[in-house]
Amino acid sequence: MRPSLASARLALGALLGGWLVAAAPAQAHNAKVHRDMTDRAYEIMLALSAGAIDTSEDPALAQLAQDATTAIQKLRNLPARLPSPQQSVCVDPATVKMLGTNTPNWGAPSPFEDMTLGAVPFPISTAYITGVDCGIDPSWSPGAFFTTVNPPGPGSADHTGVVLGFWAHQPDDEVDDWHIYFRPTNMVGFSLMKEYMEDALALPAGAIWVTLRCALECAGSVLTLGIVGDCKDCIDEAIQDSKNAVHEGLTTVDGLFPGFGDHTNVDAYTGMGHHLNVVSSSGEFDDRSGLLVESAGPNGVPDPLEILTMLAADTLGMTVHHDPSLGPKRYEILGAQDFHPNSVDRDEDDWQFLSFPHTPFTPLDNLAHFGWQAFRANPQVGVRELGWPLHAIGDAIVPMHVAGTFGWGHRPYEDAFERRLSILLSTGDVEAAKREALAIAKRALVWRKLILDWRAQHPGQATDIPVRDLITQLATQTLARVQGPSMLVWPFNPLMSPSYVVPGPTREGTITFYETIPGSAATNKTLLEEGIAAEIAFLVSAGEVLP
Ligand SMILES: [Zn+2]
Ligand SMILES: [Zn+2]
Repeated sequence: MRPSLASARLALGALLGGWLVAAAPAQAHNAKVHRDMTDRAYEIMLALSAGAIDTSEDPALAQLAQDATTAIQKLRNLPARLPSPQQSVCVDPATVKMLGTNTPNWGAPSPFEDMTLGAVPFPISTAYITGVDCGIDPSWSPGAFFTTVNPPGPGSADHTGVVLGFWAHQPDDEVDDWHIYFRPTNMVGFSLMKEYMEDALALPAGAIWVTLRCALECAGSVLTLGIVGDCKDCIDEAIQDSKNAVHEGLTTVDGLFPGFGDHTNVDAYTGMGHHLNVVSSSGEFDDRSGLLVESAGPNGVPDPLEILTMLAADTLGMTVHHDPSLGPKRYEILGAQDFHPNSVDRDEDDWQFLSFPHTPFTPLDNLAHFGWQAFRANPQVGVRELGWPLHAIGDAIVPMHVAGTFGWGHRPYEDAFERRLSILLSTGDVEAAKREALAIAKRALVWRKLILDWRAQHPGQATDIPVRDLITQLATQTLARVQGPSMLVWPFNPLMSPSYVVPGPTREGTITFYETIPGSAATNKTLLEEGIAAEIAFLVSAGEVLP
C-alpha cells in the first residue's frame, strides 16, 4: 500500500508543482507602483526646492527644502547606468505621437550608460530593459500640481525621478536571486522528517533516514554479501550521525545527494527575499525573519494557497539551489557597520537542507542594505543599486510583505493598489496633490530625523543611512496600521489568494474586492504617503554621501 500512496502523492505533487509555477503566486509589488512612488518622492523634492510648497510654518521643513535642493543637484549628475534602448525605432503609435518621430534622439554620450540622470531626455518605461520597444512611456506625467514645477516634454522635463523609479522596480526582475531545484532527500515529506529528527531525535525517523542514506552503498552488497564493506561503514557512520543528530551531521549527510531540474521564475521565486515578518518578533538567522512559508501570515498560519504550495514543494523536494542563487550571497548581511544585528551565516548545506517552504529566506531590510552598501561604496556606478533600498521601502508598505506571506490576498491586494494608484496619488487634482505634497513632506521630517539622530549617535558614519533600521521601522508601522479584529477580512483574507489563481471572473472578483471594500482607501493612502515620505528622507540623505 505504501508505494502506491507514495506514487499517488508524487503524481499529485507533479500536478501541483506545474500549477505552482504556472499560477505564479508572485510576491512582486507591481512595477508601476514602485516607479511612481519614487517619482512622486522626487517630484515633491523638486517642488520643495522650487518653493512651490509653503515651508514657512516650520523651520525643519525649510531645512528639508534646502537639503533637497542640494541632493537634487548631486543626484542629477550621477550616471543613470541605463543600457541603450532595446530598439532605436519606436513602433507604439502613442509613443510616436508624443515624440513627433519614431526615432528618438537620446543625445547620449559613449558609452550610453554614462548619460546622467538629469540628461535622460525621455520618461523610460518599466519595461525599458525587458521589453522589445524603444523603452519610452508616453503615458508618464509627474501629475497635477507637479507639472507646474516639472513640465513634461521630451528633452525638457527632469526625468531623474522616473529613472530612479525604474531602478526601484528592478529587484523584481532579478531572476537569478533564487533558483529552485528538486532534491530527492527533500521529497515525499523528508523535509518534515528531518525537521522532526532535528527537534526530537526520533528513532524511527532516524532509522528510515539511515536506510535512505545508505541505499546506494547497500544496493549491491545487501543482495550478494549482506551488510559488509561500504554498506556497513555507511550504516555505522549514519547511526553515529543520527546519535548526535545535530543539524551539522544531518546537513553533511544531506549534501551527498545531488538534486536536479534547476529552474527559476521571476513571478514565483524572485520576491522570496522581499519580506520582513514583523508578526514574529525574532528570526532564526536574522533579528527579524523574512519569508518562512510554514509560518506565513498575520497569525503565523499559512493560507490555503500556501498550504497547497507546501504540499507540492514537500512532495517534489523543491529546494533552494544554492550554487546559482544570488540571494544567499547578496542578502546575508555580515560585518555591516550599521549597529543592526548581522545575519547568521549559512553555507550551501544549510540552505539546501529543507525544501523551500521550511527554509527561512533573507529579510527585506537585508535586501535594502545590500543595495545601499553597493551605492555607498561607489556612487558613480551605483544608481542601479540605489533602487534596492527604494524597492524595499515600496514593499515595506504592503501588509502581506510585513506578515511574510505570498498568500492571504497578497497578489489581488497589490493589483487593486496599482489600479487605484492615480486616485491615491491625486494625480488629476491640483489642490489635493499640493495639500498631500505638504503632508508627505511633513511625514518625511520624521524619517529624516531618524537618519540624522542615528548619524549624531555614530559620528564615524556622518553620511551613512541606517537602512535596515529604517525598513524595519516602516514595516512595523505598516503592520500596526492594519492589525486588529477585522484584519482577517481586510487586508489579510484567506479566501482571496486561492481564488486569485483561477483566471477569469474569479480572479477579477478578488481584485474588485480589494478595490471596493469600504474603509480601505484611507489606510491605503496613509501607507502610500508614509512610503513616499520615507523615500524622500532616504533620497535627500543619500545625496549626502556624494561629494
Ligand atoms: Zn518586491
Ligand atoms: Zn508583493
